[in-house]
Amino acid sequence: MWMMLPRVAVVGAGAAGLCAARHILSRRNSFAPPVVFELTENVGGTWCYDERVGTNDNGRPIHSSMYRDLRTNLPKEVMMFPDFPFDPQLSSFLPHQEVQRYLEGYCQSHDIRPHIRFNTVVENVKPVVVTTDGEEGRTTWEVTSSDSSGCQKTETFDSVFVCSGHYSDPHIPDVPGIENFKGKLLHSHSYRCAEPFSGQSVVVLGAKASGLDISIELAKAGAQVTLSHSRPRLTFPLPPGIQQSSSVVAVEEDGSILFQDGSVGAADVLMFCTGYNFSYPFLDAAQLGLEIQDHLVSPLYRFMMPPAFPTLFFIGICKIICPFPNFNCQVQFALAVLDRSVTLPSLAQMEEEVQRELQEKMERGVQQHHLLIMDRDQWEYCQTLARTAGFPPLPPVVRSLYEEVWQQRRVHPENYRRLNYRLISDTQWELID
Ligand code: FAD
Repeated sequence: MWMMLPRVAVVGAGAAGLCAARHILSRRNSFAPPVVFELTENVGGTWCYDERVGTNDNGRPIHSSMYRDLRTNLPKEVMMFPDFPFDPQLSSFLPHQEVQRYLEGYCQSHDIRPHIRFNTVVENVKPVVVTTDGEEGRTTWEVTSSDSSGCQKTETFDSVFVCSGHYSDPHIPDVPGIENFKGKLLHSHSYRCAEPFSGQSVVVLGAKASGLDISIELAKAGAQVTLSHSRPRLTFPLPPGIQQSSSVVAVEEDGSILFQDGSVGAADVLMFCTGYNFSYPFLDAAQLGLEIQDHLVSPLYRFMMPPAFPTLFFIGICKIICPFPNFNCQVQFALAVLDRSVTLPSLAQMEEEVQRELQEKMERGVQQHHLLIMDRDQWEYCQTLARTAGFPPLPPVVRSLYEEVWQQRRVHPENYRRLNYRLISDTQWELID
């Protein structure tokens, strides 16, 4: 009997969505060409720098959190999709424009653009169980989208890849008395460049990747930065102009800032580098058997699928990963599930596995809001996906260079980007000049 090829909807044309489209298009015998919905007018997602903050011309929130002078925190040698290297002439750590160019090149080289509907927002994704006579019910997905002229459409797909990113909805922790603060309040999502802060006193909350990088930018532009965080005191050298402090616990009635250690200070600006919330306004979590909190989406089998709906895939939801290689593994695994070259365990087994994994992490002392942090576990995870679905695993050099760079970053946060690397083989890299 002739069967229609499965139709996949991809939400978002950032790195994850482009990767999904690329692999779907390369399996023309197994899948219909994808429909990629993209709410902006460009590919690239996060990497598509927008100097505006707030909303765009259509009144939609600006998606990208990119700032003007950002350079990548991973070298291009490990950041790349394993089958699509960056231009070898480029240095290892790139300005964001080069990553945007790279993603445009990826899109062009795989002829993805004709399959993208730009300026089209996915508003609703709903599972619908279809039962044909004598057959078991099959889940299809009704995807409702709206284009820039407001024209709404509902279409049916066999699977949906959620590639909408998770660095757009600013997470602002509850700071008692914040309404008393008399200066400027800002989240790193709306930070673009350092010059406007020259000569000002800025308290930066959070010392992870963005908090640290932005503090260094601000200090170099002549701001007096207080880097406030709950981590053990950072022991590596910070540039002049940055002092560390404990966490901000409250803002007092007179507008001064109270820190955990009891000290009190004043500031012109409070900058929240406190991360982002998971936000999927187009999904009904309860209907999918999911719990979506600010920092956790659960249960997800293999950090991708709600066990009860294993044709819905979240690509790239984990944190502290090597993003593009991770997406590349997840997408190939998801497609192997869809084309049935991977057989999933029963619903009960998948639920049990997810619970067991979460439980194990919590027993290791991982806090609930860190459960989607993968960090060291990412390599075994990618390896398992590759082994199960039968695609080539990540070359070991990705891990070894990634770990080297993390080490460098920890010790020389200001200077690690000056180094350049070269891959010699699947297992070896070298430092050049
Ligand atoms: P995104 O890039 O966010 O793309 C999601 C896309 O979905 C967007 O185009 C958006 O418009 C679209 N979309 C969202 N909702 C809808 C909807 N409802 N309907 C239609 N379209 C929708 N990674 C690295 O590897 N190296 C780095 O150096 C690095 N630095 C970073 C610096 C910053 C400041 C940030 C925020 C992230 C950084 N990352 C870095 C991580 C980066 O997010 C990932 O590399 C990757 O680009 C994420 O891709 P994505 O496709 O998952 O999400």
